[in-house]
Amino acid sequence: DTIGENLDRAVAAWPGREALVDVPSGRRWTYAEFAADVDRLALALLATGVAKGDRVGIWAVNCAEWMLVQYATARIGAVMVNINPAYRTHEVEYVLKQAGISLLFASLRYKSSDYRAMVEEVRGACPRLTRTVYIGDPTWDELIARGTPEHADELDERAAELSCDDPINIQYTSGTTGFPKGATLSHHNILNNGYFVGELVNYTEQDRICVPVPFYHCFGMVMGNLAATSHGACVVVPAPSFDAEATLEAVQRERCTSLYGVPTMFIAELNLPGFASFDLSTLRTGIMAGSPCPVEVMKRVVAEMHMAEVSICYGMTETSPVSLQTRADDDLEHRTATVGRVLPHLEVKVVDPSGATVPRGTAGELCTRGYSVMLGYWEDPVRTDEVVDPGRWMHTGDLAVLREDGYVEIVGRIKDMIIRGGENIYPREIEEFLYGHPKIRDVQVVGVPHEEYGEEVLACVIPLDAADPPTLEEVRSFCRGRLAHYKVPSRLSVLESFPMTVSGKVRKVELRAGHGGAAT
Ligand code: ATP
Ligand code: MG
Repeated sequence: DTIGENLDRAVAAWPGREALVDVPSGRRWTYAEFAADVDRLALALLATGVAKGDRVGIWAVNCAEWMLVQYATARIGAVMVNINPAYRTHEVEYVLKQAGISLLFASLRYKSSDYRAMVEEVRGACPRLTRTVYIGDPTWDELIARGTPEHADELDERAAELSCDDPINIQYTSGTTGFPKGATLSHHNILNNGYFVGELVNYTEQDRICVPVPFYHCFGMVMGNLAATSHGACVVVPAPSFDAEATLEAVQRERCTSLYGVPTMFIAELNLPGFASFDLSTLRTGIMAGSPCPVEVMKRVVAEMHMAEVSICYGMTETSPVSLQTRADDDLEHRTATVGRVLPHLEVKVVDPSGATVPRGTAGELCTRGYSVMLGYWEDPVRTDEVVDPGRWMHTGDLAVLREDGYVEIVGRIKDMIIRGGENIYPREIEEFLYGHPKIRDVQVVGVPHEEYGEEVLACVIPLDAADPPTLEEVRSFCRGRLAHYKVPSRLSVLESFPMTVSGKVRKVELRAGHGGAAT
């Protein structure tokens, strides 16, 4: 199926069920209403001359229109380019040019940023950009007005020209380790992935999924939107960007059954002063993904948020994204120590630097293969060939252990590994340990240069109580005797927050750079 065909099936099966609720604006759509608005927008895009394969950018925080644009562009075979809402002129100009965007959907303003002013600033440098439509502005209404239903047969004509292997989306990676790369993905890539992720959390048309993660990232648009619509479930948008309180309010008000987040979002929710007053009893499942999920956080999510069936997913933008996932009936050990088993129809292997598969139980680079591997980085065959080998295996850059029982443990990113005096240190192990310290709310461990050892261990911590942060000596004595001496942090940095990507990941590059480390 193409994404358009899949939406048609959903409308036929569940016309009157809710598809989308935009909590900030109070608007709601049933599947029938949603598909009608998608078609209207798709017809409008046809009327403005958007051809199959044309790149249409979307630069906006989460809102209902984001999802309409996602499905309308898919309907007509345009390639939607997700643009990070945190981007500013320099970065947006890069994406507009690199992807050759001809039509751009943008927010008007968000927080202090004026998207319109930024577009005006870069427009001259982007000759291919011929039209910009602002969400919540007359330019949006003018566009929609061109989508006249009497031309509906044009949509069918276009649909007949589409194939599920066509590129449909350019998604930029989070930029956690460097400059974001644009992964080109097909209907087949992302629709199947969304479908199977939804299958493994047992979605049905009864489910209501609270999606506080950004739509611009695959977590929101594939694991959220596509997983929902391929199972008749409803997407609930709690706020334009992550807000812990708004998220819990939305879960309560909309009686959500599923909640998404990266670990830091769950940590923020669990630590909200009024946490106990929210009624979260409708929750049954959810997905935690994107970065290592601390055991302590997972336990609290299960016990205090009622998410007994919560899944952990592992994936990357380049693989649509998910390749490993825990199942609803996995025990807590498997749902905390591992990222689950491989998804149906995908393969994984763990290799050493020479490319040879290592024995089960041994750490090496994780590789994945199957329908989910991207078509390639957009117009960048050189970098594509660096990560996708001739056998179509995607080399993830992550260290992992494939257990005897088929579950995979993620050890960490190869780039984050600390080498201190010849010892390999995996930050995650120390982070997991330090979460148990009574004065620490959140912790990140990085390697920083050291004259004698090459690198040494720096712990960056956010204290539970800002007035009473832990001292280096307290941290060290907490570790001593319980961690090997070379893993005990030799430096401590107390912070109020961590530098984050919009997809909610800590930019360790910046934590390192702030301490004289070389940025990668
Ligand atoms: P960039 O490639 O631009 O540096 P990024 O790799 O963070 O950024 P994404 O594609 O959003 O961009 O994230 C994929 C990465 O996130 C994986 O390679 C892995 O390192 C990490 N990751 C995802 N899920 C998990 C998980 N469940 N546990 C641990 N790490 C995870
Ligand atoms: Mg990456």
